[in-house]
Parts: sequence; structure tokens; C-alpha cells
Amino acid sequence: MLLEVKGLKKHFPINKGGFWKRQEGMHLAVDGVDLALREGETVGLVGESGSGKSTFARSILRLIEPTAGEVYFQGKNLLTLPKEEMRRMRQKLQMIFQDPYASLNPRMTVLDIVAEPLDIHFKLSRQERRDRVASILQRVGLGPSILNRYPHEFSGGQRQRIGIARAMILHPELVVADEPVSALDVSVQAQVMELLADLQETFHLSYLFIAHDLSLVESFADRTAVMYLGKIVELAESDILYKRPLHPYTRELLSAVPVPDPRLRKKREQPGTVDFSFTPYCNHRQDEAPHLIEAEPEHFVSCHLRPAEIRRRPREGVS
Ligand code: ADP
Ligand code: MG
Repeated sequence: MLLEVKGLKKHFPINKGGFWKRQEGMHLAVDGVDLALREGETVGLVGESGSGKSTFARSILRLIEPTAGEVYFQGKNLLTLPKEEMRRMRQKLQMIFQDPYASLNPRMTVLDIVAEPLDIHFKLSRQERRDRVASILQRVGLGPSILNRYPHEFSGGQRQRIGIARAMILHPELVVADEPVSALDVSVQAQVMELLADLQETFHLSYLFIAHDLSLVESFADRTAVMYLGKIVELAESDILYKRPLHPYTRELLSAVPVPDPRLRKKREQPGTVDFSFTPYCNHRQDEAPHLIEAEPEHFVSCHLRPAEIRRRPREGVS
């Protein structure tokens, strides 16, 4: 495994206003997530806004410090890594952010923005630094004439390409892309997705690809995890998840995706196709906390039921 996350939690204190800023409990933004990623693999992470995707992403890269858990990257727990070793490790771990308007410093030139990771890790001559930046810019479809220009001069798609160039300049091994195309027009989205796929081939990258839209990850990710209220509620190969969603929340996400074929649409909306019992949708066996079980090989779903019960059920309706 390239990345193995175990029991990751990030809890934020809830502060009520007022002079004393009383703390009123904790907000469980990420609440016990296990997720593994193989070398060269793309894992999609989907869920609606506020489900904890960005907090999870930032926690595994230690951009924020998680509350609990372990994050093994190439066998080393990043959360206990000494500062200097973590600094070196960062070369292999990069992030692409959702908002290409907010994530690029408006006062820096494209050259300085893209060179920033280089500057942190290497001491290069001016010429070599410039050459390295020009070369990665070309790789993401941008010419060297933009080196001395500023972010505001570019469109959303171009800015995201600049952000991608910055993430790629150190030739990372794992890239966490947090909704990298959500802020872009649909036509531009496809081009940026294509670029990401292309870069993956060239650099043998692994992606953790975050989206709130399942249709984006269906063809892009090998496996997809669905996050709901800080927990993973379903995980499977993307096409299986798409064809045979088991968790009601996954099915709800899917029903929000436009389906061109009316027959498929009808099938999808049929109530009770899989009659599972989950929190918070129902209260079957609320005495037991829901947990991920392997409903079919490599297909995990959060459930109160026991494996034997689950295996009997999905076959009834979904075939
Ligand atoms: P997503 O990326 O899926 O939209 P986030 O990870 O951004 O979700 O947020 C998950 C939850 O954690 C939200 O309810 C959000 O309000 C809360 N949250 C995120 N960052 C902080 C923070 N720094 N302090 C307090 N609460 C936060
Ligand atoms: Mg987010």
C-alpha cells in the first residue's frame, strides 16, 4: 500500500459566541476513517458539502493536525514523523485545491508561485529554476510567456493549470486533489480532468480525488469511497458503486446525478430495491453502532446488519 489511513479523526471545538467563547462540545468533522490507496491507483472520495472531505485531505497531509489516527505513507506514519523527515516527505505529497482563485497568491508571479515548492526543497540557479518552471508549465498546457504575469490575468481553467503545475513540479507520488474542477465551467472541467489523467500516466501518480459529484469520479477513479458526516459509509470499485450502490446515502447521491436513459432512471428510483437498515435513515438495531462490512468482495458498506443478513439482501433487488 502507498497510503494507509487508520482511524483518522479530526474534531473541532464548537465555540458559542459571546465574550467568554464558551466551548460547547466537539464537532466530529472526520470521525474514524480507514482508507488505503495502492501505488498508481486513483481513489475517489465523494460526499456532499460539509461531510468532512477537505478536513480529511488536510489531515492526512498534516496541513492541519488530526485529533487521532495513523497515516502510513510508504510504511511510515506521517503523524509521528519528526519535522525534518516530514519536510522531506512533503516532496512526494502534494495537493491541488478547489478554488484556483483563492489558492494562488495574487501578489506573486506565475514563476514564483510554481517555483515555491522547488524553493523550499532545493537551491537552484535562477536559470535552472526558470527552466524547471517553464518545462512543467508546458506540460500542463501553458507557454513560457506567462512566467512574469500574475494570477488575476488568467481564467479559472488556466489558474487551475498553474495550481496543477505547482503540485507537479517536484514529481510527487501522491496528489490529493480536493474538488479540483468544482469551480470550473463544465467544458473546462473535462479538459482539466483529461490533463490530470495524462499527468498520471507520465508521472505514475496516485490520486486521492475528491468531488461532491459521483458522476465525476465514476470513470476517473478506480475505487470510490462515499463520505457522510465524517465517516465512510460505502467503498467499492467505482463502476460497482455506480451500478450497485448499497447505502441509501450513496443512492441519494446517485439520484442527484442526471441519468440520460429513462429505463435506468426508473430502476434507480424504485423504492426498496435494497432494503437496508442504516443510521440515520432508520433505526434497525440502533443498539449497535453501524460499521463497515464487506457486503460482497471488495464492496464495503456501513451497516447495522450482520454479514450473513447483508449477503442475502442485495441479490433480491439489484440484479
Ligand atoms: P467538505 O470538504 O466535505 O465540504 P469540510 O471538511 O470542509 O467538508 O468540513 C467538514 C465539517 O467541519 C463542516 O461542518 C465544517 O463546518 C467543519 N469545519 C471545517 N474546518 C473547520 C475549522 N477550522 N473549525 C471548525 N469547524 C470546521
Ligand atoms: Mg471541501
